[in-house]
Amino acid sequence: MLGTILHAPGDVRCVHLPEPEILAPTDAIIRLSASCVCGSDLWPYRGLQDIGAPMAMGHEYCGVVLEIGAAVKNVKVGDFVVGSFVLSDNSCPHCKHGFQSSCEQRAFMTGAQAQIARIPLADGTLVATPTHPDEDLIPSLLAVSDVLGTGWYAADAARVQAGSTVVVVGDGAVGLMGVLAAKQKGAERIIIMSRHKTRQDLALDYGATDIVSERGDDGVTRIKALTQRIGADAVLECVGTQQSMTQALQVARPGSMIGYVGVPHGVQFDGANLFFTQVGMLGGPAPVRRFLPHLMDLVLSRKINPGKVFDLELPLQDVAEGYKAMDERRAIKTLLRV
Ligand SMILES: [Zn+2]
Repeated sequence: MLGTILHAPGDVRCVHLPEPEILAPTDAIIRLSASCVCGSDLWPYRGLQDIGAPMAMGHEYCGVVLEIGAAVKNVKVGDFVVGSFVLSDNSCPHCKHGFQSSCEQRAFMTGAQAQIARIPLADGTLVATPTHPDEDLIPSLLAVSDVLGTGWYAADAARVQAGSTVVVVGDGAVGLMGVLAAKQKGAERIIIMSRHKTRQDLALDYGATDIVSERGDDGVTRIKALTQRIGADAVLECVGTQQSMTQALQVARPGSMIGYVGVPHGVQFDGANLFFTQVGMLGGPAPVRRFLPHLMDLVLSRKINPGKVFDLELPLQDVAEGYKAMDERRAIKTLLRV
């Protein structure tokens, strides 16, 4: 089968690999319906995250179950399934509290930019659809696996509710999904910080009410002006840099929450500043498993169309171009046809 290996920074290749096999009785093997490249894949691709050895890439997936281990009960061969990018048992205390991304057995999915993948902890990780979905829904169901689930978590963690004024920091795919999530949760005003026309257009399409293209102090000033100098009720931090986190803290009103889902790279906090800013923060890897049933329903009933975030579609063989286009910001997110 074909799969994707990152050999070194900038060197990602689609290669022939042995087909994955059941290794534990809790595993399932799926044939992917489609795969994609994640913004977080760009960290090792850009050499900003060390990889010791060549690494199998891909953690977003949906597809049809080909084989199950002896202990798997919740999905069966032939089911169409979507899973989280975090593998979880969905039964430990953290999972029961809805934080499957801190599962006692937590592991991170790899090897999904491929035709076939092994899914450990299948019972706790996968959710099957009642029937096989229409082909045109595949991109949206794939998006649920990580990018939408993560944007949704940002809105959930930031406690977005009906009538909220929301600021989304970051116009990558996750930020755009954060806009979609805030809209679904009834936010009245959704301000996105974005400097790119195609991303601004998609943000407006997903429900953004205001675009702020300024950054730094100018961006903060604009947002304060848009919110009667109060700041936002909820801030979604979807980048993970010092600049984006500082921005989030500066536009959050006292008593608000920041949902932060950009993987932090070099972010530091000043304790006294946090103390006097008086905002709450909740973030981390998204517990997508908690949201899967609801988000899959929204997609299957065609209430949302997160799949529009894929603005480049390539065959898996051209995965290197998929990475390059995202790295150069020519594409928001690449869908890989398998
Ligand atoms: Zn667990």
